[in-house]
Amino acid sequence: MANDTDSFLERIARFENGTELGPRVLKAGIIDGTGEFAGPTKMRIDTAEQAIQDVDWYADHGYAQIKIYSSVKPELVPVIADRAHARGLRVSGHVPAFMSARQFIEGGADEIQHLNFIVLNFLFPDVKETRNRDRFIKVAEHANEFPPERTEVTDFINFLRERHTVLDPTVNIFEALFCGDPGAITPGLEEVVPRFPPQVRRAQRSGALEVPPDQQAAYREAFPAMLRLLKAIYDAGVTIVPGTDALSGYTLHHELELYTRAGIPPVEVLRMATWTSALVMGVDKDLGAVAPGKLADMILIDGDPTTNIRDINNITTVIKGGKVYDPVAIEKSLGITPRETRPH
Ligand SMILES: [Zn+2]
Repeated sequence: MANDTDSFLERIARFENGTELGPRVLKAGIIDGTGEFAGPTKMRIDTAEQAIQDVDWYADHGYAQIKIYSSVKPELVPVIADRAHARGLRVSGHVPAFMSARQFIEGGADEIQHLNFIVLNFLFPDVKETRNRDRFIKVAEHANEFPPERTEVTDFINFLRERHTVLDPTVNIFEALFCGDPGAITPGLEEVVPRFPPQVRRAQRSGALEVPPDQQAAYREAFPAMLRLLKAIYDAGVTIVPGTDALSGYTLHHELELYTRAGIPPVEVLRMATWTSALVMGVDKDLGAVAPGKLADMILIDGDPTTNIRDINNITTVIKGGKVYDPVAIEKSLGITPRETRPH
């Protein structure tokens, strides 16, 4: 999501022709509006004509999904959604500024990225300029005011279920933003980051928001409140797919751990990361389960993540398309010190 169109396609071509190691990629293309907060992409639109042109470009280049970004004009959301759906693409995104999550879904969105946009639905229209960092700050200040029992929260969760809206919560970024210490190692990566080369290690700081003195209690409560919201969304039967919005691989494992911290059973979290994700992306014929007739894409784990999700970090073997990879050798080639393997 939100990759540069040129270098991204070149990289995937290298994955496919075997000159670079990488995962199987389902492409999601970003579209943003214009203005001072627009994201670093050339896919920026101001008119319906431009919206259709960009959706067509992504469709013509084999993309499966559109990611709408924060500066898209609300009136262009249905234009993007209609064209994307007509071309067989899913529509996801940030809820753009000046509209609510409910309006975004009514405008045709299939999926919402980032759990803060669910909280912001309850703050709309008091908070509607969400192109800037208010989309984090206002959530930190007010997340604990919207427990799942509140009628408007329950109603909106039911609305998500009725509309079959998919949620990609990326809760790990809120754990980091609301942790209170910008210099701390990104929460959840404490065991991994010390193994990284120094220049990578330095970039793995939490980047937490500065906490105003009168907001300390609210910030402390914000992340636990978001995990309770996530659990309520899961309990209601809304489809959840795990995304990261951060360092790949290691962060995904921590994202899964956070779902279990929210109270979702580990075996259900593993299902979200495999079968549910394949179903949502329409690739369940080939992927999402270990079964005859599927592509041989799997990881072997030393441990039992169905009872202890953290065991998912103990990957001994990676298999993609039937080809076997040694994760220790890959980490070594990247300058990463291998993790301590458990004695047998
Ligand atoms: Zn995003």
